[in-house]
Amino acid sequence: MKRYVIIGNGTAAAGCIEGIRSADAEGSITVISAENYPVYCRPLISYYLEKKTDLRRMHYRADSFYADNHADVRYGIQATGIDAAAKEIMLDNGGKLPYDALCVCTGSAPFIPPMQGLETVQNKFPFMTIDDALALEKAVTPESRVLIIGAGLIGLKCAEGLHGRVQQITVCDLAPRVLSSILDDKCAAMMQKHLEANGIRFLLGTSAQSFSGNSAVMQNGETVDFDVLVLAVGVRANTAIVKNAGGSVGRGILVDDACRTNLPDVYAAGDCTEYHDISSDSVKVMALMPNAYMQGHTAGVNMAGGAALFDNAIPMNSIGFFGLHCHTAGSQPEGCEMYEEADDSHIKRLFVRDGRLVGFMLIGHMHRTGIYTALIRNRTPLSEVDFARLKIEPQLAALSAEYRDHVLKGAV
Ligand SMILES: Cc1cc2nc3c(=O)[nH]c(=O)nc-3n(C[C@H](O)[C@H](O)[C@H](O)COP(=O)(O)OP(=O)(O)OC[C@H]3O[C@@H](n4cnc5c(N)ncnc54)[C@H](O)[C@@H]3O)c2cc1C
Repeated sequence: MKRYVIIGNGTAAAGCIEGIRSADAEGSITVISAENYPVYCRPLISYYLEKKTDLRRMHYRADSFYADNHADVRYGIQATGIDAAAKEIMLDNGGKLPYDALCVCTGSAPFIPPMQGLETVQNKFPFMTIDDALALEKAVTPESRVLIIGAGLIGLKCAEGLHGRVQQITVCDLAPRVLSSILDDKCAAMMQKHLEANGIRFLLGTSAQSFSGNSAVMQNGETVDFDVLVLAVGVRANTAIVKNAGGSVGRGILVDDACRTNLPDVYAAGDCTEYHDISSDSVKVMALMPNAYMQGHTAGVNMAGGAALFDNAIPMNSIGFFGLHCHTAGSQPEGCEMYEEADDSHIKRLFVRDGRLVGFMLIGHMHRTGIYTALIRNRTPLSEVDFARLKIEPQLAALSAEYRDHVLKGAV
C-alpha cells in the first residue's frame, strides 16, 4: 500500500486528494494542516466579513470529504522539513512521517515590507485566512477608521468586506491604479470610480512611509490617522521547505507540467509553485484557485502512478466589487492588437497576437466569458472561428459544432 503525504490543506491539497483517489483507492493519505479548519474557500473570507456567508458555508468540500477519501488530516501541525533521501518529513511536534510520494501544497504568506514604526501599531492584520478575518472582525467597531495598504485583489476584497461595518476605509498603494497586476489604466479607472462611489477612499501612487501608533505618514507627506491597519501589500510563495531540502525554487517552487519538483517523488501544487503561462509563454507564480485545484489534481494522479499534465495554465480572474464585475484572463503582450468596446458602464478589451486571442479584460460584462477563456487556453487560431461575431458577443453560434462538442467541455 502506497503512503501519500500532503503538506498543506488548501485547494491544491483537495485537488491532490481527489487526483490520488481517481487512480488509487487503497493507499494511505496523510494531510499536514497548519490551519485548524477543513479545506475552505479562501476568497470567501471577505464575504464572511460582509455577513454574506458563515464559517460552515465556506467549506470547499462536504463534511464527509476526508472520510470519503480515507484521508487522515493532522490539524494544527506544521511540516518543518523534508528529508528527500530518507523520504520522510519532519513535523513541529517532533514527529516524522515517511512517504512514498509527497505533495507540497503550502500556498503563500503575506509579504510585509519593512516600514518604519510598524511595530508601534497595535491593531494590524493581514487578510489571508479565516483566523485573520475573525481577528479583524473583533477589532473593528462602527466608529473604526481603517487604513488598508495595498489596492490589489486582497486589499480591495477586504475593503468590500468591511464596508458598512466601519466609519471610514482608506486604501493606499504605491501603484498609480487599483488592481494594477490585472487591469490597465482605463479599466482600473472605471473600477476605482465605482469603489469611490461606494465610499472607499484611495491614495494611489503613494504608500505609508512611517507609522507612529495609529498615524501613518505617507510618502507624499499626507498623514492618515486610523484605528485599524490592514497589510495587503502582496503575498510570497511558501517555498522554504523545498528549498531547504535542495529543491529548485525561484519565486515559487519549480514544477514541470506533471507537477514534479526536481526532488524524487516530491510534487508541488498551487500558490507555492511557479509554472508556465501559455498566454505569455513565461514562467510565473499564478496564485489562483482554479489553477491550484487543477495542479493539485494533476499531481495526485501522477503520484498514484497515472499520467496527467497541467499544460495549459493561464492567469485568470473573475471578481466583483459592489456589484461591478471584472473578468480578466491571459496577457497583453507588447505589440498585440487590441479590440475595444466601451461606454460609461462597461469596457471590453480583447488582445490578439499572431492570429490568436491571448488575453482579455472585461468590466461589467458577465455572459459566456468562458468562451474567450477557452480560446486562449486552447490556443485556437481565430481563423477557425467567427471572430468578427465573437468580438461583439461571446456566443456559441460563432463556433463550429466540433469546437463546441470537443473543446469547450462545459467552459461556458
Ligand atoms: C482574500 C482573498 C481573495 C481571493 N480571491 C480570489 C479570487 O477571486 N479568485 C482566485 O482564483 N483566487 C483568489 N484568491 C487566491 C486563492 O485563495 C488561492 O489561489 C488558493 O487558495 C490557493 O490554494 P493553495 O492550496 O495553493 O494554498 P492555500 O489555500 O493558501 O493553502 C495552503 C495551506 O498550507 C498551509 N501550510 C503552509 N505551510 C505549511 C506547513 N509547513 N505545514 C503545514 N501546513 C502548511 C497553510 O497554512 C494553508 O492552510 C484569494 C485569496 C485571498 C486571500
